[in-house]
Amino acid sequence: MSEGRGRHFLQIPGPSPVPERILRAISRQVIDHRSPEFKRLGQEVLEGSRAIFKTSGPVVIYPSSGTGAWEAAIVNTLSPGDKVLMVETGHFATLWRRMAERWGLEVDFVPGDWRHGADPDIIETRLAEDRRRTIKAVMVVHNETSTGVTSRIAEIRKAIDRANHPALFMVDTISSLGSVDYRHEEWEIDVTVSCSQKGLMLPPGLGFTAISEKAMAASKTNKMPRSYWDWGEMLKPNANGFFPYTPATNLLFGLREAIAMLLEEGLDHVFARHQRLAAATRAAVRAWGLEILCLTPSEYSPVLTAVMMPSGHDADQFRQIVLERYNMSLGAGLTKLAGRVFRIGHLGECNELVLLAALAGVEMGLSAAGTPHRGGGVAAAMAELGLSQRDAAMTRKAVAG
Ligand SMILES: *Cc1c(COP(=O)(O)O)cnc(C)c1O
Repeated sequence: MSEGRGRHFLQIPGPSPVPERILRAISRQVIDHRSPEFKRLGQEVLEGSRAIFKTSGPVVIYPSSGTGAWEAAIVNTLSPGDKVLMVETGHFATLWRRMAERWGLEVDFVPGDWRHGADPDIIETRLAEDRRRTIKAVMVVHNETSTGVTSRIAEIRKAIDRANHPALFMVDTISSLGSVDYRHEEWEIDVTVSCSQKGLMLPPGLGFTAISEKAMAASKTNKMPRSYWDWGEMLKPNANGFFPYTPATNLLFGLREAIAMLLEEGLDHVFARHQRLAAATRAAVRAWGLEILCLTPSEYSPVLTAVMMPSGHDADQFRQIVLERYNMSLGAGLTKLAGRVFRIGHLGECNELVLLAALAGVEMGLSAAGTPHRGGGVAAAMAELGLSQRDAAMTRKAVAG
């Protein structure tokens, strides 16, 4: 048993490890949330969040998990009895649907096999068939964290436009924001939902909604009851950097640092790093002879890779062995996938050497658990990392002398 010795490897797809810089930013005395010092902090994080969501419009920050931000999106824009279109991409889409139903929405839930993203063509067809324009919102999970499948949000936007349908477009970017290219304004998203503990590298505790003008207009006339989640209540004091209720002040210190880190590295570089690490992970999985859950290469998640266990082998037993022997947490299969898949998180602060260590832990764990597989996964990942375009060009140049 080595659990508890050395560094713990938190390789689940959120919460992701919190960088030292962010831990230090959070670890300080709390301040008066009505003070001039707070006002500066509030203005900085509200402004900085816009850069991460890529919007010039308002971003509301709640002390909540991502689920709270889902609720805020629903209660601020829709009315009981409204029809919404959702897509069964996996566990999280299914939970969002359940919440929508609890709020009295009528959900048209496009069935899915948990191995593909939301299909833009099906969304276009459903909207085109809705001649009376009864569908009030299309709600899609960008990165389905239970499956490692990323839906093509820009293409879904185009599909909605082709159908010439006025529905609001709401997107859950809880596990993609800050890791995968996302453009709230350019893609004309109406409500983008996110939270702190995944790509933003913060501890759990902050929920976000980015809001379009169209969503804001809907919030003026919709009939859903709300109080704590009300956007209007938040936006009034936000205009001066303040919050109507006590904010999660120390998490906002962390958020300021996280935004600085993402912008210093450059969002495009952050996204490219996630793509590179994900490709290396898939190279390892293929070398092991195991199957990647996601079936469409253009939908592979840059954030996590869900790996199918060979039939007759229990993914949870394997994860238990990895935790006990190598002090590493891997993501579990959720609901329909329980025991059948394990998930490798490669998001946030992750880099090449962290990933290779994690893959070594998986490879050793597969042996320890007696899971049928081939060796060489770590070597395949190293080769893939060495073969990134830039490295290949540099190697060619060095060889050419
Ligand atoms: C983690 C996650 C959620 C749930 O967020 P909580 O912070 O646990 O409420 C919802 N959607 C997606 C895509 C997620 O990854």
